[in-house]
Order: sequence, then C-alpha cells, then structure tokens
Amino acid sequence: MSVLSQNYEQVARRIEQATRRAGGGAQSVRLVAVSKGRSADEVAELWQLGQTAFGENRVEEAAAKIAALNRAGGQSTIEWHMVGHVQRRKAREVAAHFQWVHSADSVPLIERLNRTAGTSVAVLLECNVSGEQSKYGFAAHRIDADDGQWPALCAAAEAVLQQPRLQWRGLMTMAPIVTDPEQTRPVFRALRRLRDKLAQQFPSAQLTELSMGMTDDFEVAIEEGSTMVRVGRAIFEPLT
Ligand SMILES: *Cc1c(COP(=O)(O)O)cnc(C)c1O
Repeated sequence: MSVLSQNYEQVARRIEQATRRAGGGAQSVRLVAVSKGRSADEVAELWQLGQTAFGENRVEEAAAKIAALNRAGGQSTIEWHMVGHVQRRKAREVAAHFQWVHSADSVPLIERLNRTAGTSVAVLLECNVSGEQSKYGFAAHRIDADDGQWPALCAAAEAVLQQPRLQWRGLMTMAPIVTDPEQTRPVFRALRRLRDKLAQQFPSAQLTELSMGMTDDFEVAIEEGSTMVRVGRAIFEPLT
C-alpha cells in the first residue's frame, strides 16, 4: 500500500471515530483534502482512492490542477473548494473554477463572485473567532455575551442572501496554532454557537455547514460539530 493510501485510510478512520464520539450518526462530516502544494498526480492518485472533494488556496495553482484532473476524467465527480483568502480581482477566476468558497470575507468579494459566476457557488462566511490580528474573516468575538454583536458579519449575511448565484451554506474558521489541540475547542464551540444564532436570525438560509478543523485539530472540531474538515498534511505527508 502506498503512503498516500495508508494516510487516507487512517484519516478516514479517525474522522469516523471522532464522529462517533460526537454522538451519533446524524452528523455527516465531509473530508476536504487540501492539495495546495501537491502535484496533479498526487491529486489523481487520491481521487482514484475515492476522494472527490479537494481544497486549494491559490487559484493559479488550482487552475492547472483542475485542468489536469478534468483531462483525466474527473470533471463530473470532483468538487473544488477554495479555502484561502481571495483577492477581489481574482473573484472571476475563483467563481469559474470552484464549486465552494470557504473564505468569503468581504461584501465586495461576495458581490463580485455573484456577478462573475456562471453557475451556482456555495459560500461560507469566514469568521475570526479567536480575535488574532493576523487572521482574515469577519470579527466574531464574545459570541456568548448577551451584548455580542457582529455588524460586519450580519451585513455580509444579508449581502450573500441577496445574490442569486450564491448559496450561503454556513461558516468557516481557522483555529489558532497551539501545542495542545484541546486548546482549540472553545473556538470551534463558539463558531457552532454563532452558526446557531445566525440560523435563527436568518431563517431563510440553509446553514448546515461548519468548515473547521485541519490536520492538528480536526478531531476536536468534529466533536464540536464540524461538517467539513480541511486536511492537508495528514493525508499527503509521509507517515510519522
Ligand atoms: C493549508 C490549509 C489547510 C490544511 O492544513 P493542514 O494543516 O495541512 O491540514 C486547511 N485550511 C486552510 C485554509 C489552509 O490554508
């Protein structure tokens, strides 16, 4: 068995176990294999093992891989997820190549994605829950406080709901880098609470998705309700 297939099997097993710990079969967790920095051949190998959702963070790099995988016959089965920050001027190319954008972080970007999209694009609003300056996303602190308010996030929610070619499906966050994955739990829990509050506030939206969890913390994220984990290194790097 190749390293890739061993890793893939192990990640799938860990996801399944974490899902079980999260309490029942109701939650379905989608694995987005983050293939940034990996070759089209590696993506093709993983696709042949049955993986159909791939995440990228740079549209130029992704476009070449998407073309290669389309030539290999992946066009109708592979789903591409943009997980990195999108510059406004790249919106058209992103809308042309990706079925999902996890990292919508401004109203102008949302409007431009809609304007340039040919077909429907599923959108997650990226939230900065930890409050780190270095992070993209809408400010979303003090989620449990009664006076918690997220005016920019709510404005973006209203904007995305007005775009006919965008479907607002949920929220995304990046946890801080920590030594013990347990330390990320409050961030994931807060994103879930925020989603629940927004679902009440915007009842017409179908906010089923929480994109949270990466190689170092995906199991904690699943325990806290993640429905999409974005995993790169645990799949593509040599076994340790
Ligand atoms: C790279 C990246 C990931 C995957 O990170 P790993 O630690 O390799 O699993 C997930 N999300 C985003 C936004 C990324 O840029």
